[in-house]
Amino acid sequence: MGAVYSSVTHSVLLMGNNDKQRALPARWASDGRHLIGVCGLCVVNRCRIVVITDSEVVRIEAAGGRRVEREGVSRRRVLLGGLAVAGTVTGTIGAGRATAVPSPPIIGTSGWGARPNSAIVPVWNQRPIKIIVHHTATPNQADFSRAAADTLARAIQNFHMDRRGWIDTGQHFTISRGGFVLEGRHRSLEVLRIGRQQVEGAHTTGQNIVAVGIENEGIYTVERPPGELWNRLRELCAYICQQYAIRPTEIFGHRDFKDTACPGDVLYGMLPQLRAEVAGLLGQHLSRDAAVQASWPLLRIADRGAAVRAAQHLLRAAGLRIVDASGEFDRTTADAVRQFQTEQGTEEVNGMIGGESWPLLVRVVRPDDDGEAALAVQALTSGGGLEAPTMLGVEEWKQLLSHTTTSP
Ligand SMILES: [Zn+2]
Repeated sequence: MGAVYSSVTHSVLLMGNNDKQRALPARWASDGRHLIGVCGLCVVNRCRIVVITDSEVVRIEAAGGRRVEREGVSRRRVLLGGLAVAGTVTGTIGAGRATAVPSPPIIGTSGWGARPNSAIVPVWNQRPIKIIVHHTATPNQADFSRAAADTLARAIQNFHMDRRGWIDTGQHFTISRGGFVLEGRHRSLEVLRIGRQQVEGAHTTGQNIVAVGIENEGIYTVERPPGELWNRLRELCAYICQQYAIRPTEIFGHRDFKDTACPGDVLYGMLPQLRAEVAGLLGQHLSRDAAVQASWPLLRIADRGAAVRAAQHLLRAAGLRIVDASGEFDRTTADAVRQFQTEQGTEEVNGMIGGESWPLLVRVVRPDDDGEAALAVQALTSGGGLEAPTMLGVEEWKQLLSHTTTSP
């Protein structure tokens, strides 16, 4: 029985067999006997990992879970076992940093064979203030391997550079279905480690210099993301929040800003859970209510309800009188939305009302108004027990719309 380890006095280095030279941060639980934040590769591949502390070398068999018992062995035996011991120790939990969140393992651009960026990647002297979650909308493949993750990262970069004409991958980070985290745009990882600057991305127009973009492999319109992906997403978000002092409530989906289904209804619906779990990893508490952010409902053809009726009144207020305020999102409504999007010059002209079209549709309503915009407010407040706020700006509209339910 060896000494009980204290998370404040012993730094820890993990090395995965699968990823031989990579130092992986971990920390001891308060009981001094369990490791927390064991390498994702090990959990996925059940490979052997080695823990080196300041005073002793211990060997650990990854058990496919996140808590692993330690077992003491000599440093010599580990070295003879063919595992290199890195010279630097990362993940040091020093005094005052006892609650530091370790980074999940992140494969840099060189690790997955990225092409060079075609122009200098702009880096801004400011910290990002939010995280935006996406899905790649690629098939939910069953291949959870590292090779599949690398292939995905290369395919996205080729698509963004060759088809979109961008200078590099658009998003900052990618997470594969197997739970591999990869750097997207060059320099994203280096800049994240320092925590002072923002790499300009190309994942959400209007948010690219203030938000870190994460692409999650798969399509989550009806299916839930695999556990491996979810765990790495939580860990990556927590690490990003820590590095930039971002509140866990500031995690959003692409649809919060654009007229898009991304990151899928299911993953989008899991964002309150993500915020709460990220808060937990940061040692904070986020109540169920506080984890829910006001959000624009995404309206599509065949939806019905008060939000649809409100949108129809607002379309009419914008001059699109072909629309009937029926509360049913029919073809005529979709056509009117497309016309509205064309006139407003939105990024997508797709007949969907999401985070880009809503703020353009809403308008100031005066107390004595009885026009279409006032009817839109009425549609949202009648019957549901909601009162129309006395001030009605974009945020109040969002709050009102947030409380409506939309059924297809
Ligand atoms: Zn997206």
